Amino acid sequence: MNFESVNEIAAWRMCLGCGACAWACTSKGIRLVDMTDDGIRPVVDGSCAGCGRCVDVCPGADTSHKSWDADADPKLAGSWGPVIEVWEGHAVDPEIRFQGSSGGAATALALYCVEKEGSYGAVHAGADKEEPCRNRTRLSKSREELLENAGSRYSPASPCDGLGIIEAAPSKCVFIGKPCDVAGLRKAQSLSSELDGKTALAISIFCAGTPSTRGTLDLLAGFGKDPSEIQTLRYRGNGWPGNWTAGSKSGQSSMPYKDAWSFLQKYRPLRCHLCPDGTGEFADISCGDPWYREITPGEPGLSLIVARTAEGRRVLKAAADSGYLKIKKIDPALLEKSQINLLQKRRAVWGRLLALRLLLVPVPKLRGFSLFRGWAALAFYEKVRTLAGTMRRALKRGYYGRARAFPTRSITRDISIIRKRGAI
Ligand SMILES: Cc1cc2nc3c(=O)[nH]c(=O)nc-3n(C[C@H](O)[C@H](O)[C@H](O)COP(=O)(O)OP(=O)(O)OC[C@H]3O[C@@H](n4cnc5c(N)ncnc54)[C@H](O)[C@@H]3O)c2cc1C
Repeated sequence: MNFESVNEIAAWRMCLGCGACAWACTSKGIRLVDMTDDGIRPVVDGSCAGCGRCVDVCPGADTSHKSWDADADPKLAGSWGPVIEVWEGHAVDPEIRFQGSSGGAATALALYCVEKEGSYGAVHAGADKEEPCRNRTRLSKSREELLENAGSRYSPASPCDGLGIIEAAPSKCVFIGKPCDVAGLRKAQSLSSELDGKTALAISIFCAGTPSTRGTLDLLAGFGKDPSEIQTLRYRGNGWPGNWTAGSKSGQSSMPYKDAWSFLQKYRPLRCHLCPDGTGEFADISCGDPWYREITPGEPGLSLIVARTAEGRRVLKAAADSGYLKIKKIDPALLEKSQINLLQKRRAVWGRLLALRLLLVPVPKLRGFSLFRGWAALAFYEKVRTLAGTMRRALKRGYYGRARAFPTRSITRDISIIRKRGAI
């Protein structure tokens, strides 16, 4: 099925929440709302000119590889997309390394582009200062601003709603986001030569799926914290992998990152389970965790860094030569050892799509990911588990045969408590 509107995509729960549709809308009639139980979703405000750009730009409806860098290793492509080189490293700046999620590589790369390559700034996600349980898109133009927004936020963020900032910037900008955000950026670049010309470098963080804001609210509730009193909220970082910490006037609550993630991951929407791209295949450079070995307590952070384009490789080496990053090349086989969960998730996608098709649910177009080959590599037990699990989840949530719009009650509640979103 071809989706005809962004409303339809959201109603079928195929939206990934990147925010690109709000940028693409010619009548500026799309509002992004953080639906507490799902994620950031578009709401069309009636003023639709019918231009169709919201669908054209949507990675939720269609995320497909068209071509990739000739230097990419063909042996790795079926599992990891385009990979030119794999590195391990960290920000040389000790504060960036400490505050970053892994080794602060994403932040250090953006800082290098700003300070040495004339980039105007980086468009990326950070905590909403007035409501730290939610995120806002930010333009960071200095080390201080980049540092303030370093670290992963395991809750909805829509950095593509800041693509207008990149278009209007006096010089090129860096973009940092999740794999789906970068896929949205790439589709937007193909719609706007202005945006294309102003995008310096696309950096993706690895992502196993974004938990809804409900996950964060339930985690806070477990500590007896009132979300309206939260002043600071970090999901990890300040050490590797660091702690989830929530600060309010009444004090600070915290728990190890691993415990927080095992709680939050249950809140990932179904669409995230259909995503084959956990490692940012559309980016110039992607950064994740080198989980291929045990981390000793107190060990300083390290990033797994994948150069995916010739430009990504150039910037990575230039950032290292200029003293922003310390990197060493590693065996690409360590990708699988580090991120077996992301590979298994990618392999499950073909079966998950089949399960939804059997329930007459329209599914996204996902070309160029060797999905059937990945599915064939799964053990029989995994195949059955994936098919049955997706069907159970889809039936339980009422995703069959017809589009189920978001319950009006949830939208009304969310709109009443959330200001109109937008980049700052
Ligand atoms: C939802 C989610 C799932 C993740 N799943 C995995 C995983 O499966 N495997 C793995 O190795 N790592 C995962 N990570 C962590 C992340 O990919 C790594 O920490 C990565 O190594 C980046 O570390 P860094 O130190 O280089 O980044 P930093 O220098 O700390 O920079 C992080 C950058 O990410 C941006 N960012 C943070 N949260 C979001 C968000 N929600 N949406 C868009 N941009 C954001 C920030 O603006 C910042 O620019 C996940 C992160 C998130 C938010």
